[in-house]
Amino acid sequence: MSKVAIELKDVTKSFDGNQILKGISGEIDEGQVLAIIGPSGSGKSTLLRAVNQLAGPTSGSVVFEGQDLTKVGKQSLNHLGEKIGMVFQSFNLFPNHTVLENVTLGPRRVKKLSEEQANQEAMHYLKQVGMAEKANAYPESLSGGQKQRVAIARALAMKPKVLFFDEPTSALDPENVGEVLKVIQQLAEEKRTMVIVTHEMNFARQVADKVWLMADGQIVEENDSKTLFTAPKEAITKRFIEQVS
Ligand code: ADP
Ligand code: MG
Repeated sequence: MSKVAIELKDVTKSFDGNQILKGISGEIDEGQVLAIIGPSGSGKSTLLRAVNQLAGPTSGSVVFEGQDLTKVGKQSLNHLGEKIGMVFQSFNLFPNHTVLENVTLGPRRVKKLSEEQANQEAMHYLKQVGMAEKANAYPESLSGGQKQRVAIARALAMKPKVLFFDEPTSALDPENVGEVLKVIQQLAEEKRTMVIVTHEMNFARQVADKVWLMADGQIVEENDSKTLFTAPKEAITKRFIEQVS
């Protein structure tokens, strides 16, 4: 049995009285990859943001390392970024900083690393994602795939316990998708705890241990990835995976 990294209990989220997440319960296991799939607008991004407290839940709890994150103070939340790394569809690199600076800013500011130490660690992660030779380049000179690999190195440099990816390849040209998926695949092989929202069904099937199919603010189906993709139980899951793959 694997250990639970994050436990969600009846998480809801409303905007202006409009309930977007309708009671999400489930577990994210240590050392495993959870893929979240489902139609656009089903609440996948809202769920990630609720879990990492970028926009915390309206009700319910998110238990991480024995703490209910919905109940801890702002001070502890400021350090949450160190524990849950986030990679967005749109990279969100700082355009006026070099690749190396993009990776070292967080560790220097938050972890108070010296420049030398931060640079050394950053180069390690840039090597891991195959971007070391671009350390002194600016983001605008990079392809989307390269930018996303830098964004992954930046997240890794904070040494998070868990990594969240929100459609990490959706903004990429098709020829850049593979290089990013390969990096994520390698992280999965290192047994990192990851949650990946993706429309890449083949990838989800290969890399995920567990899959949640979300629709209309709920988890409609949960299963190990092999079962979910080969023998979906719900009609909506069948329709969705046929449509997207
Ligand atoms: P997905 O990531 O699955 O495509 P989202 O989580 O982005 O879905 O959105 C789910 C629903 O929540 C959508 O109807 C969206 O318009 C709504 N929503 C998301 N964020 C906000 C917000 N900040 N204010 C109001 N509505 C929001
Ligand atoms: Mg989304």
